[in-house]
Amino acid sequence: MSKPKIGFYWCASCGGCEEAVVDLAEDILPVVEAVDIVFWPVALDFKRADVEAMPDNEMAVCFINGAIRTSEQEEMAQLLRAKSQLIVAFGSCSHMGGIPGLANQFVRTDILDRVYYDSQMVVNPDNIRPQEATAVNGDSLSLPSFDGAVRTLDQTVDVDYYLPGCSPPVALIVQAVTAILEGKLPDKGTVLAPDIALCDECSRKESKPDELSINKIRRPFEIEINQEDCLLAQGLPCLGAATRSGCGAACIEGNMPCTGCMGPTSRVSDFGAKALSGLASTITGEEEHDIARRLEQLVDPVGTFYRYSLPMSLLKGRAISDKGAKA
Ligand code: SF4
Ligand code: SF4
Ligand code: SF4
Repeated sequence: MSKPKIGFYWCASCGGCEEAVVDLAEDILPVVEAVDIVFWPVALDFKRADVEAMPDNEMAVCFINGAIRTSEQEEMAQLLRAKSQLIVAFGSCSHMGGIPGLANQFVRTDILDRVYYDSQMVVNPDNIRPQEATAVNGDSLSLPSFDGAVRTLDQTVDVDYYLPGCSPPVALIVQAVTAILEGKLPDKGTVLAPDIALCDECSRKESKPDELSINKIRRPFEIEINQEDCLLAQGLPCLGAATRSGCGAACIEGNMPCTGCMGPTSRVSDFGAKALSGLASTITGEEEHDIARRLEQLVDPVGTFYRYSLPMSLLKGRAISDKGAKA
């Protein structure tokens, strides 16, 4: 009997999600034995033409990590959608827009100016900017276009399941692959992680007061962090109450606050708004302006509350009004 065919692809990605697959180590061996990997450009020499040559629905599943920012990423997502029975958005960037999605705070032209003209690291006296088509020695070279905004995978193609996390925890990857191979998948659209808040699986939850009262918001380097007690109670903006569990509270185990990479539970529509209102409700202050003043201590509010989810948020970011935006 032929084995199910699977693929992996990366779009606007840091490579960490690919590392997570490699980190499966011996856990990946049963997977490799049970399937045929027919597309995985980061590890194996497959080309786009190999995918184009496949019949539709040839792959049982394709895992796509990274957000969508360029025409090439959009074309590949559409191609892989056509060739796969299931598409899994793999990792925060694919699921929610992720770190690349923070670029939606800036319009496209400002990003290009910064990268090619204004950055202190750039020497570009002729103000050359890469073009989508360039004639070179009688030939034409082409580059993908740079879209007006970062999109999530499901703002681009139909997605069947989501594996959250930056990068997804190994145990969740193994569970998801096993469920796919055994045909024991939940309803379409499910996020393949426990649907409870991270605080519920945190080893410090007993030290989290029922009534929190924070009079100063701190950054991790500003204090010596107690290794036993709830980080939020220590004034660090730990987003565990707004974040889906499933990572084993990895950052808290490393004595760092949760920044929300697993995204929201199914009961929350806008992760950043939920995290912001959760933090605001813990701030000490009689008057609204006291609370506002303390929240101003946050150095980077968008990066704090929407670090991984700006493109999927209700705000989506300013760039949606930029020419060429598709989100
Ligand atoms: S989810 Fe995290 S690890 Fe994966 S590509 Fe995005 S930034 Fe990298
Ligand atoms: S706020 Fe953070 S440290 Fe406190 S219980 Fe929740 S996850 Fe743990
Ligand atoms: S603790 Fe928070 S930021 Fe860290 S891995 Fe877990 S969900 Fe992601």
